[in-house]
Amino acid sequence: MRKKRLIWRFALPFFTLTVAALFIFTWYSTSTMKERYFEHVRVDLLARAHLVQVEIAELLVSGRLAEVPEICNRLGRLASTRITIIAADGTVLGDSMEDPKAMENHRERPEIAEALEGRDGNSIRYSRTTGINTMYAAAPVAVDGTVRLVIRTALPLSSVEESIADLRTRLIIGGLLITLLVAAMIFVLARRLTRPIDSIRTGAEQYAAGNLAFRIPKDESAEFGALADALTAMAQQLDERFRTIMQQRNEQDAVLSSMIEGVIAIDREERALDMNTAAATLFGVDADGAKGLHLQEAVRNTDIQRFATVALTSPEPAEGFMIVRGAEDRQLQLHGAQLRDGSGRGIGAVVVLHDVTRLRRLETLRRDFVANVSHELKTPVTSIKGFVETLLDGAADEPEHRDRFLAIIAKEAERLHHIIEDLLSLSRIEQEGERGDVAFESALLRPVLESAVESRDTMAKERGVTVTLECDPQIAVRMNAHLLEEAVSNLIDNAVKYSAENRTVDVAVTVADATLTIAVRDRGPGIPGEHLPRLFERFYRVDRARDRRSGSTGLGLAIAKHIVQAHGGTIAVESTLGEGSSFLITLPRK
Ligand code: ADP
Repeated sequence: MRKKRLIWRFALPFFTLTVAALFIFTWYSTSTMKERYFEHVRVDLLARAHLVQVEIAELLVSGRLAEVPEICNRLGRLASTRITIIAADGTVLGDSMEDPKAMENHRERPEIAEALEGRDGNSIRYSRTTGINTMYAAAPVAVDGTVRLVIRTALPLSSVEESIADLRTRLIIGGLLITLLVAAMIFVLARRLTRPIDSIRTGAEQYAAGNLAFRIPKDESAEFGALADALTAMAQQLDERFRTIMQQRNEQDAVLSSMIEGVIAIDREERALDMNTAAATLFGVDADGAKGLHLQEAVRNTDIQRFATVALTSPEPAEGFMIVRGAEDRQLQLHGAQLRDGSGRGIGAVVVLHDVTRLRRLETLRRDFVANVSHELKTPVTSIKGFVETLLDGAADEPEHRDRFLAIIAKEAERLHHIIEDLLSLSRIEQEGERGDVAFESALLRPVLESAVESRDTMAKERGVTVTLECDPQIAVRMNAHLLEEAVSNLIDNAVKYSAENRTVDVAVTVADATLTIAVRDRGPGIPGEHLPRLFERFYRVDRARDRRSGSTGLGLAIAKHIVQAHGGTIAVESTLGEGSSFLITLPRK
């Protein structure tokens, strides 16, 4: 429904009131005037009738009634009034304006009837004789208490009515002018009243649209001025509060978005109130798009929903675990607690998601490692135990058996020693690398590589393998010489071990802008592609049984990897089956 403008709300009643007042005033004043005037005429007519009363009474007493018409005419002329004399039976005896003989019986005329009863009478009526609205007054002429004649005076009211009509016209014109004036005043007043309201409305609209810096123009009237001031003050306060809220929000957003843990806040209906980037990434959704949606729609994961329900209902902080399936499964530790408002009323819950995938993987690695170590140690220990028991059972007395068994025991003990040595060195490098305890210094690379080649010289000669070295003697690099030598030695060890007989193993150094690469290349059998990703893991062997028999501990590459990592470098392998393998150590030069 279209709203009525304020101006009409008070202009119409005012206007109606004015018109009604003017109408009532006009009606009342003209009718009062008319009454007064009529009364005056009535009294006057009666007075005139009474004036001729004596004269007519004398005519009656002296029996000269025949003179009545003539006297009527005379007196009528003198008094400028129509005078009629009527006999007691209603017959008109004389009339100053008409021929009495032509006039009908007047007994029934109201004023006459009244006068015939002995009282003064009067009436206003339309005169059939003159055709004008006329006022009549009648006075009785009595002899010995009996009414014998009636004197009637009459005056046409046309002039009175004309002046009253004239007066009314003037009043109406005046009224119309007043009405116009009132309308104009109402219009001006309304404009004055609505202008400040309009400007306040504009202000309110601006505030609603968020333009809190808008200022409502000052108004001189006390009420609107105060209202405008109050609105302006309110807008200022709102502005300040918004700023504070925005600042707090930004801070909160910054904290949430920089958190590694995923955070999801939900309300009591399980709608997502807030979700940080970490949580959104974990579930592969858009953080902003998820806000306001029911958790079911936002995340599409039944585990998190179930947990959210628990967090919402449980008075104690809740804990849980779930796996998010995907290209890479993520394992999440869940913590949930109820959210409460200032008065302690529950308004929802917050769920924190810790991605423990790496932690769990490390745990698994550690478990596997312990199992692997035990397994690695078990084989030589079992073997030693078996041969020692055999010796104790009497084999010690048979020289050929005893020597063979002792040799095996010595070999197994050596193997044990190797494994333990390697493990210790691995854990030492790992620890030192993590703590930053490794001592680095800038030194020439070639001597380090030379002594690594040297260390595997005997072994190479045994197998008829030649190890070549190609390295610019000027190249220096920041390193721990002892550790780097160990790493390269391990690579040469493998290269020689897996090389075909009488082939060469090449150790070569190439230099790039920021890095240098030490490559150890053999012409051995190569390594199948599926083993390459795990090759540097502890105890990983390509051919478990054969490599173990060959005395491999499966730790050499792991040690090399840790040493290279402690240097801030990387280690990689390239291999072609049947052609050979290249192990590449890349180190930063600065
Ligand atoms: P180990 O110290 O016992 O030799 P590594 O960790 O050095 O153990 O090697 C792990 C496994 O990688 C070996 O058992 C072997 O199967 C494979 N391997 C390493 N180097 C080579 C190579 N140059 N050619 C072929 N296989 C290799």
